[in-house]
Amino acid sequence: MNEHAVVIAGGGPAGMMLAAELALAKVDVAVVERRPNHVLVGSRAGGFHSRTIEVLDQRGVADRFLAEGQVAQAATFGTTVLDMSDFPTRHPYSLGIWQNRIERIMAAWIAELPVRIYYGCEVSGCAQDGAGVEVERSDGQSLRAAYLVGCDGGRSVIRKAAGIEFPGWDPTRSNLIAEVETTDEPPKGIRHDATGVHALHTMEDGRTVRVIVTEQQIGPASEPTLRDLSEALVAVYGTDFGIHNPTWISRFTDMTRQAATYRAGRVLLAGDSAHVHYPAGGQGLSLGVQDAVNLGWKLAQVVNGTSPESLLDTYHDERHPVAARALQHTMAQAALQRRDERIQALVDVVSELAAMDEPRKRLAGIISGLDIHYDLGEGHPLLGRRMPDLDLVTADGPLRVFELLHDAKPLLLNLGEAGDFDITPWADRVQMIDAEYGGAWELPVLGAVRAPTAVVIRPDGYVAWVGDRTHLGLPEALSVWFGPPAAA
Ligand SMILES: Cc1cc2nc3c(=O)[nH]c(=O)nc-3n(C[C@H](O)[C@H](O)[C@H](O)COP(=O)(O)OP(=O)(O)OC[C@H]3O[C@@H](n4cnc5c(N)ncnc54)[C@H](O)[C@@H]3O)c2cc1C
Repeated sequence: MNEHAVVIAGGGPAGMMLAAELALAKVDVAVVERRPNHVLVGSRAGGFHSRTIEVLDQRGVADRFLAEGQVAQAATFGTTVLDMSDFPTRHPYSLGIWQNRIERIMAAWIAELPVRIYYGCEVSGCAQDGAGVEVERSDGQSLRAAYLVGCDGGRSVIRKAAGIEFPGWDPTRSNLIAEVETTDEPPKGIRHDATGVHALHTMEDGRTVRVIVTEQQIGPASEPTLRDLSEALVAVYGTDFGIHNPTWISRFTDMTRQAATYRAGRVLLAGDSAHVHYPAGGQGLSLGVQDAVNLGWKLAQVVNGTSPESLLDTYHDERHPVAARALQHTMAQAALQRRDERIQALVDVVSELAAMDEPRKRLAGIISGLDIHYDLGEGHPLLGRRMPDLDLVTADGPLRVFELLHDAKPLLLNLGEAGDFDITPWADRVQMIDAEYGGAWELPVLGAVRAPTAVVIRPDGYVAWVGDRTHLGLPEALSVWFGPPAAA
């Protein structure tokens, strides 16, 4: 039986991101993926949002994705477009890039890291004891791990095996999504009617049409067929445009559910296994990647013996509310995508409000993920919020804050008098940099905040402690987040 410190079930975006985070922290990690390789049949998600680009930038890989996608300086709420070009970030935009490309780029990245991947291997269950988890495979073999993370999508076997409840709302509508060829030229673009949203787009090859069509009734759980797609198109467009040669047909619904807990002992959940919702607003993949970045360093510290197991509970405490709010917003957005006269009236009201500065920033802040605020207690507005990617001047020359996070190591950034801090008891875990920054401090949605004299930045890029001309609370914050001080 093979043993690893951490086994991740599922090598989709959440699983791959988590594997990268753990490998960067030198944890022995293995991914068990059902598919024979990383290739994803069908384009699936259409991209990700600003904060996700930022977290990839924190690891030095954002350019790989930006090079293959198209940026749009806007987020969409329902059908209302929200300008976000004035957000104070290096990436004030969403990135349009198909999920199969995202996964190809991620797979190439983790291939550069010490990650073991078992492709063509399905996880069928798990059983945990006080010392670890037995991960069962459908081929009868098993793996052993200190921790298991279920990143195995909305129908997660791991979530069920761990007995984690998945409360929420049953589907009220379903969509077919497909890539096909057509005999007749279909009208391109998005259409809304009383059943929901429909969209037809030509893919890059100029031949394949990506179809999204809302079904008249909720479709069955079985795999959809070309005939189902034809009937759904005829009901909306009066013709099926002579669809043929499907390379991918799938069904998704507006089922909205969230795991009651993200952790049951040595089993954790991340990504769609922890939350599912209608893809209105395109947030699922972004949420999963950010779950992984929140969990990765914490799990690494627990596995490496730096921090107590209780650190893992902060993963649920921080990420559960973020997804709960996203679920609420996607339900609202899905409602706004249905179009009869009454809903149209609501869309008009939302659009009117969203044209005002504060509501626009608030909604765009939520969709982009730039407004995330983990509850780390009272204090400076930066506490629990994302650290801006400032242009610093250091003894080694100019540096961006995000460049200092490439290795996923925590950082004490001293912007006051050089040499003002001594963190010797944490020096094996926490980097310390003296730097100068003379620019403005502005946070998305919140606006200007007063300049701190020092900050402690967690590996996920969130601020864990703010020095406001004092060192008060610093040893406590370092102990809470990065383990007790080393003995002298
Ligand atoms: C039409 C559509 C459009 C979307 N658009 C967007 C968008 O624009 N932006 C966005 O952020 N999100 C979007 N989403 C959502 C996004 O696709 C998902 O949220 C995202 O894929 C979740 O990633 P994940 O890694 O958690 O799960 P998944 O991508 O589902 O990955 C799970 C992985 O686990 C593997 N697996 C499953 N079961 C097992 C098992 N038992 N053993 C081993 N391996 C297993 C699977 O093969 C898969 O590789 C969209 C979704 C749809 C359907």
